[in-house]
Amino acid sequence: MAKSVKKTRKKSTRRATRAAPNKKITRATARPRAPAPKPFVIDFHAHIVVPEVLAFTYGNSMFAQAVAAPQQGGAPGALPEEMRVRMTDMALRLKEMDAMGVDMQVISPSILQQCTYFADADAALKVERLGNERVAEAVGQHPDRLVGLGSVPMQDAALAAQELERCVRDLDLKGVIISSNVNGAEIGEEKFRPFWAKAEEIGATIFIHPAGSPDPRMRRHRQLITLGQPLEEAFAMSSLLYEGVIDAFPGLKIVFAHGGGFLPFYTGRHDNDFRARPGTTRLKGDFSSYLPRFHYDTVLFNPDMLDFLATKVPVSHLMLASDYPFAEKRPVEYVRRAKTISRQDQDAILGANCARVLGISI
Ligand SMILES: [Zn+2]
Repeated sequence: MAKSVKKTRKKSTRRATRAAPNKKITRATARPRAPAPKPFVIDFHAHIVVPEVLAFTYGNSMFAQAVAAPQQGGAPGALPEEMRVRMTDMALRLKEMDAMGVDMQVISPSILQQCTYFADADAALKVERLGNERVAEAVGQHPDRLVGLGSVPMQDAALAAQELERCVRDLDLKGVIISSNVNGAEIGEEKFRPFWAKAEEIGATIFIHPAGSPDPRMRRHRQLITLGQPLEEAFAMSSLLYEGVIDAFPGLKIVFAHGGGFLPFYTGRHDNDFRARPGTTRLKGDFSSYLPRFHYDTVLFNPDMLDFLATKVPVSHLMLASDYPFAEKRPVEYVRRAKTISRQDQDAILGANCARVLGISI
C-alpha cells in the first residue's frame, strides 16, 4: 500500500519537473510560483457491508427496526438498494471517491446494520472473523486506495481483544469499529478492560460509532439518526472518562464518529459539576481537559461546528470524513468552508492527521 502511494507521489513530482522550464531560466521564472500541491485526502469514516454478515445481523439491527421500518414499531425495513450497492460494489466506490476528491478511504463495517452484539459470543466471533477477512481482502485488492478497520464481538471482552489482535497483526487492519454500548453496558465498564488494554498494547485505532439506541423515543421521526447517534457518543465519552479508562490507558487511540457527538459542544455542565463536588469522581481535572485525549471526525454538516470543535480540541485531532455512503457528499469542500481554521490546518485535516494516527505512509 505504502509503496503504491509513494509511486503515485513520485509520478506527480516527475510531472512537476517536466513542466518546469529547462532553458533560459530567468530570475522571474525561477521563482517558486506553482500552486501548493494538493494535499493527500483520506476519508476516515466510510462503510462497507459483507453480505453474509449482513444476512446474520440485519433483522436485529437498530437500522432495520427503527430507521428503515415502514412504520415505527413495524416489521424490519429493507436496507435501501442505493446504500447496499455503494457498500458492496468496489468499482462504484472507487469512482465515487474520485468524484469526491478522496484519495483513500478507511473502510469500516457499517455497524448500524452489521452489529453482532445480540448474538451468542462464539457465533458472533465466527461471523466477525469472516467479515474482517473480507475487509482485509478489499484492502488487499486496492492497497493504494483503501485501509481497513475490522469489528469484534464486544459481548465477550476477551474474545474481542483476541480478534482485535488478529485484525491488526494478521490481517493488517488498523484497528476496529465498536458501538457506544454493548447490550446496555457502557463501554467504560470494568469488564471491558481486557479489550482496552489490548488496544493500547498493540497501538490499534478504535473507532467509536453507535449501532443505534434502544430507547423507543428514538424511533420517532428518525431521531435514532439525528438525536440518538450523538447522544450515544456522549454516553460513550462520559463512560470512558468517569470509569477511568482514559487515565488507565493513556496511549489509547480513539476516534469518535460524528465530531464526538454532543459532548465537545456542551462540556460546561460537566466542568461545573467537577468543580462543585471536588473529589467525588475519578476525573483528574475538568471534563473538558480530557477532550484532547480523543480524535474526532468531521461529519458535522455545519462548518461553524467544525470551527467551534477546533477551539476545544487540537486541530491535529480532526480527520476528514464523509460517512460514505450515508452523509457528507462533499467532505473536502466542507472542511474548506471552515472560516477560522487556517489553510495549512485544513490541509492536515484532509489527510495528514489521519495518516499520522493510523500510521499510513503518504
Ligand atoms: Zn457511519
